[in-house]
Amino acid sequence: MEITTIETIPLRHSLPEGRSLGDARGFGRTRKTTLVRLETDTGLEGWGEAFAPGRIVEATVEELFADDVVGLDPFAVQSLVDRSYTDPYHFGGDVFVQSALSGIDVACWDIVGKAVERPVYRLLGGTECESLVPYASTMYFTEEERPLEEPIREAVEEGFTAAKIKIGAGRDDDVERVRVAREILGDEGRLMVDMNGNYRPHQAIETANAIADYDVAWIEEPVPPENASGYREVKRRIDTPIAAGEAHYGRFAFKELVDDRTVDVVQPNLGRCGGFSEARLIADMASTENVAVRPHVWNSAVGTAAAVQFAASVSDYPHSRNVPEPMVLEFDRSENPLRDDLLETPLDPTGGRLEVPQEPGLGISIDEQALERYRSEA
Ligand SMILES: [Mg+2]
Repeated sequence: MEITTIETIPLRHSLPEGRSLGDARGFGRTRKTTLVRLETDTGLEGWGEAFAPGRIVEATVEELFADDVVGLDPFAVQSLVDRSYTDPYHFGGDVFVQSALSGIDVACWDIVGKAVERPVYRLLGGTECESLVPYASTMYFTEEERPLEEPIREAVEEGFTAAKIKIGAGRDDDVERVRVAREILGDEGRLMVDMNGNYRPHQAIETANAIADYDVAWIEEPVPPENASGYREVKRRIDTPIAAGEAHYGRFAFKELVDDRTVDVVQPNLGRCGGFSEARLIADMASTENVAVRPHVWNSAVGTAAAVQFAASVSDYPHSRNVPEPMVLEFDRSENPLRDDLLETPLDPTGGRLEVPQEPGLGISIDEQALERYRSEA
C-alpha cells in the first residue's frame, strides 16, 4: 500500500464580536487549525489534525514532508517520525514541524487501523476500553460579563463529574474561582486548575497554598512552559501535582518534563506532540518515572478523536484497581463548531462518560459539508 495524495485543509472559526474568551493571559476570538487528508492506492483515506494555522502547515508539509509521504507505506510511519529529527537536521524540535508531522502521523495510523480493521487504540497496545471519563474545560475568562458559576453549572448539568477551570489572574481571584467551582462540582468531583503559565514561581506557590483545601487534582502550567527551573521550584514547595505538556513538542522536550519528575502529569496534544508515534514514546517514557499521561485537547473533532484513541491506549500502570485515579480526557465546553460539527457522528461527552469509537482507525466519518463550511483560505 502506498500514499498517493496528501492534502492540507485549513479550518477557521470566529466567535461573534464581544464574545472572546481565554485565560489569564488574554482573550481570543478566532480558532485556526489544519486537517491533513491522505489517500492511498488501495482507496483507503486517513485523517489527522495539525494543530497550527493553515498556511504554515501547508508550507511545512510542502517543503519538508510531501516528497517523503507520497509513495510511503503508512505502516512505515515511524520512519517518517524519526526522519523529522535528522532530515533536515535540527528542525525536529520545532512546533510547526511537529504539528505538521502530527497531522500526517495520525492520518497514517487512521489508514493502518482501517487496513487491519482495528481501532487505533488497540494497535497502540490498549486493552479493550468502552468509554473514558471526560472532564469539562470551562470557566474561561470571558470578554462579556457572565456569572462566574454559570459555565461550570452547565457542565455539571450535562453530566460532567470532572472539570478544569482557568485561574492565574491573582491569588484572591483564584481562590474565589476555585471555591465556586468546588461548590458546584461537589466534594466528589475531580477539579483541576490551569494557570496558563501566567505566574512567577512565588505567585504560583502562593495560590497553590491558598487553594490547598479544595482538593485540586492538578495545577496546570503554573509558570511558563519554557521555565524549567520555575517548574522545579514550584514542585519543591507545593503538594498538589503539577501538569504540563501542551506547549512541548516531540519526545526530547517531554523527556525533560519526565526526567526527575519535573511534573507529575504530562499532557501531549495529538495535533502537536508528533502524533501517535511520538505520543506512545512519551507515554512509555512517562511510565518509567511514574508520571501520569493525560492528553491535552483543544482541537477540532479530528484531533479530539485522536486524543480519545490515544487516551484509551494508555496503560494505568502502576495502579491497582482500588486507586481512584482514572484516565480523564479533556473536553472543552466553549463554543467551537470545529469540534462539534465536523463528524457525521459527533463525540458526545455528556452523561459523564465518553464512548471510545470501536470502528477501524480513528473510528470517525467526516461531514464533508461541514468541512466546506469551515474551510478557510489560511
Ligand atoms: Mg492548559
